[in-house]
Amino acid sequence: HIAPGSGAGTPAHGGDFDAIVVGAGFSGMYLLHRLRDQLGLSVRVLEAADGVGGTWHWNRYPGARCDSESHSYCYYFSKDLLEEWEWSERYPTQPEILRYLNHVADRFDLRRDIALNTRVGSARFDEAANLWQVTTAEGRTLSAPFLVTAVGCLSAANVPKIPGLEDFAGQWYHTGEWPQEGVDFTGKRVGQIGTGSTGIQAVPVIAETAGHLWVFQRTANYSVPAHNAPLSPETKRWIREHRDEIHRVMTSNTNGHPFNIEDRSALEVSEEERQRLYEQAWAKGGLQFRATFRDLLTDKAANDTASEFLRAKIRSIVKDPRTAAILSNIDHPYATKRPPIDSGYFEAFNRDNVTLVDLRAAPIERITPRGIKTKDAEYPLDIIVFATGFDALTGPLLRIDIRGRDGRSLRDAWKAGPVNYLGLQVPGFPNMFTMTGPGSPSVLCNMPVAIEQHANWIADCIAGMRAKGLRRIEARPEAAERWVRDVNAAAESTLLPEAGSSWYLGANVPGKPRVFMPYAGGMAHYRAICDEVARKDYEGFALS
Ligand code: FAD
Repeated sequence: HIAPGSGAGTPAHGGDFDAIVVGAGFSGMYLLHRLRDQLGLSVRVLEAADGVGGTWHWNRYPGARCDSESHSYCYYFSKDLLEEWEWSERYPTQPEILRYLNHVADRFDLRRDIALNTRVGSARFDEAANLWQVTTAEGRTLSAPFLVTAVGCLSAANVPKIPGLEDFAGQWYHTGEWPQEGVDFTGKRVGQIGTGSTGIQAVPVIAETAGHLWVFQRTANYSVPAHNAPLSPETKRWIREHRDEIHRVMTSNTNGHPFNIEDRSALEVSEEERQRLYEQAWAKGGLQFRATFRDLLTDKAANDTASEFLRAKIRSIVKDPRTAAILSNIDHPYATKRPPIDSGYFEAFNRDNVTLVDLRAAPIERITPRGIKTKDAEYPLDIIVFATGFDALTGPLLRIDIRGRDGRSLRDAWKAGPVNYLGLQVPGFPNMFTMTGPGSPSVLCNMPVAIEQHANWIADCIAGMRAKGLRRIEARPEAAERWVRDVNAAAESTLLPEAGSSWYLGANVPGKPRVFMPYAGGMAHYRAICDEVARKDYEGFALS
């Protein structure tokens, strides 16, 4: 299946293909379509999983759904695709998104150029031949002048190294590597570790069937209700009739969502008005809560007003005052960690079969054959669910042994944190593009918008090079240094670095450098910078 093949055209400059793409999620699939069907390149996509869909193939945990609204969480590159696909709910479930991505794979005949069950273990740039030699975990090597990593930013599961896990007599699962056949919780004693976006989605659903669910919380979190519901025929019609406008909003604002941030300060309105606006945003639900005021992420005093509103909501929902106090004892400003939205998370703690365990008061000491042992007690369990997130952004790239010019490894180049230009290229690694990785807006954005921008920029760049007979593009070190400074400055101008335990900073993985990784300057601004660089003949890149 990974032999040279069905892609249009023949490789122009030696090698098995014109381009090798790693990953068949939203990113890799669209890039394949752009490079193959619009540029006529021969392309091979290598995908570790046994199906397409990336995130939505792997994350099959109970309650898994998207926090972006369905009409914005999809490709916009094809009007026909937009017309023929109809979402059923405001926030689509994992199975529905996976169906959508499978539909895309069929609709654009992508499968013939995707090799499934093919994990890339290493990639080496052969400078003399100007080819990337990409080797699979099974030891097969393929070559192409261009290598694009579409490996995802939340695809390397992070299972904390808690002593004793190997001795646990029950079953354990990470939410991001959930078994395809599902897990039966009926009557079981379940322990869930982690209360981030994933954990908050999983709790209410696991609680429905579990005998008892213990939720082990280290970091308390804000959450806003999703108010998910089926899309009414009127809403569906409205979406259909306003597609161009929706797309214009999504591609011209900070976060790629189909709404703009209100242009008013939380501190310029009266207390009464502020509460009214927060109540209104709470009733509407979803990530748009963040957009109630323009300064929630830049001014601590403004943020405090939102944080306090949300803490009060927790206290009003959760009946047991002690549980409510632990859930609302939040140590970071609102939205400085990935802000979750939920469907009955706090309400779940009012059930008799759900207990919150405060790990701040009594940390986990070890896992025993029977269950989880904290400083205070041992909790006997049948199943442990790790909702502990990912080695984000850099993890999926550094799990591959990538070597650029002179055999230099990416792991070395990024020892002190990721260094790249525009989040697109690393100096010393010619012709390798990274999609939605560190240094790009990625996780701070509604991601399909970021993905289409990256794929379009990369495809246009390769097309331009071919038109001019150029064969190599490499980020200049000084451009990358400048970009790293810009990425830091963008983060520093917000409250985002204040969440000390955030995975945006790499803080969830022991030993990982503490660097704010995504570009916080906003998607629209980032797009303008990338366009300007391209317009100036790829300023900051060396082309030959
Ligand atoms: P992925 O979908 O992660 O795909 C990457 C693929 O690369 C995977 O299939 C993986 O198997 C493959 N791969 C990785 N390494 C290798 C290797 N070495 N060899 C071969 N294959 C490899 N984004 C939003 O905008 N809104 C949301 O509400 C939202 N919710 C999310 C909820 C969850 C639970 C998670 C985990 C993520 C969520 N995201 C959300 C982010 C989501 O990851 C992106 O929206 C999008 O799916 C990313 O697509 P991708 O193709 O870039 O990466």
